[in-house]
Amino acid sequence: MTSKPVLIVGGGPAGLAAAHALATIGQTSVLVEKEDRLGGAPILSGYAKLVPSGEWAKDAIGGMVERVESNGLVTVKTGTTVSEFSGEPGNFSAKLSDGKSVDAAATVLCTGFTHFDSVNKPEWGFGTFPDVVTTTQVEQMISSGAGVRCPSDGRKPKRVAILLCVGSRDRQIGREWCSKICCTVSANLAMEIREEIEDCHVYIYYMDIRTFGLYETSYYWRSQEEFKVKYIKARIAEVTSDGEKLIVKGEDTLVKRPITIPFDMVVHAIGMDPNVDNMLLSTIFDVELEPHGYIDKKAAYGTLGATSRPGVFVAGSATSPETIDDSIAQGNAAAMSAYAMLQGAGKVAAE
Ligand SMILES: Cc1cc2nc3c(=O)[nH]c(=O)nc-3n(C[C@H](O)[C@H](O)[C@H](O)COP(=O)(O)OP(=O)(O)OC[C@H]3O[C@@H](n4cnc5c(N)ncnc54)[C@H](O)[C@@H]3O)c2cc1C
Ligand code: SF4
Repeated sequence: MTSKPVLIVGGGPAGLAAAHALATIGQTSVLVEKEDRLGGAPILSGYAKLVPSGEWAKDAIGGMVERVESNGLVTVKTGTTVSEFSGEPGNFSAKLSDGKSVDAAATVLCTGFTHFDSVNKPEWGFGTFPDVVTTTQVEQMISSGAGVRCPSDGRKPKRVAILLCVGSRDRQIGREWCSKICCTVSANLAMEIREEIEDCHVYIYYMDIRTFGLYETSYYWRSQEEFKVKYIKARIAEVTSDGEKLIVKGEDTLVKRPITIPFDMVVHAIGMDPNVDNMLLSTIFDVELEPHGYIDKKAAYGTLGATSRPGVFVAGSATSPETIDDSIAQGNAAAMSAYAMLQGAGKVAAE
């Protein structure tokens, strides 16, 4: 154990996991979060029931927040960012936006991602038609208890289209990556909508379905067989309105025919962009970004969480689109790498 704390930047699932892991082995940390509360995207964006546990985000991630906030070995600083950072492994100094300084032995960047802003896909109607919404908005409708309703007039939708890959796998707008979790999240939301509004027809428009690993059974097949969610393999051209209904126009790429279907609500399954702060974080912490703009991991199989700068580690969706469980695993791993480095467990850890 070192008397200096580990500085953790970002209080989402990855940062919370890192702080907790360090505390369990007696290591102090300072957790700096720019928003006014901890929890990251699942709490700040009001997610509903999580994939794959089915637990409400406020309980599952809220529990992680409580565990960290009540731990005497973790100093939490919300509404705070790091403005300057200097030093060497074992002996870093960070200047914070509140004017205070923190001496830290190592740092773990857990600064996460930014939700894709659907206004960057104007032809799909977001920002033009109030009943075109995003998956995060539907999550909020469910988690707030309000239920899934059309924002224009509060009615229960009878027909909902979920459009996958909005802001992902789209070279035209410079987002080539797959956001990994949105197929599964969308199948989950489709089932939740069907559960709440039994006579609502839910269609998922897809390029490919990537309910990866074991999720194929519990989300892809279950949504179709048990919840009668319909899947359409299509290329979407545009979302318009006839004054009464939203109209989704595109091409059914299985039968190679144009399709035009009316809906009450259209949901964009938005992707995970690199954190908008990454350029700034890269400059302040002197760490390299990978070509898409996420924080680069130095090695896939070496010291977990190492960045291009010795003593500065990274975890979670700061590194690429990641799920919550993988972000938590990476937070734990980066904490262990930082701790091993501080123990002098091989200079390798710092390299
Ligand atoms: C619509 C949607 C639904 C999803 N649902 C699920 C699901 O059901 N299950 C699942 O496994 N995954 C889900 N995900 C993915 C999930 O959001 C991420 O896996 C998870 O949030 C990653 O955690 P993180 O801690 O790495 O990052 P984040 O949750 O993004 O947390 C990062 C934290 O760092 C803070 N921060 C950012 N920049 C700075 C800075 N410069 N200084 C200080 N603090 C900073 C942020 O405010 C935030 O609190 C979903 C994603 C989307 C888009
Ligand atoms: S997970 Fe599915 S919806 Fe998300 S980007 Fe990948 S293929 Fe598209």
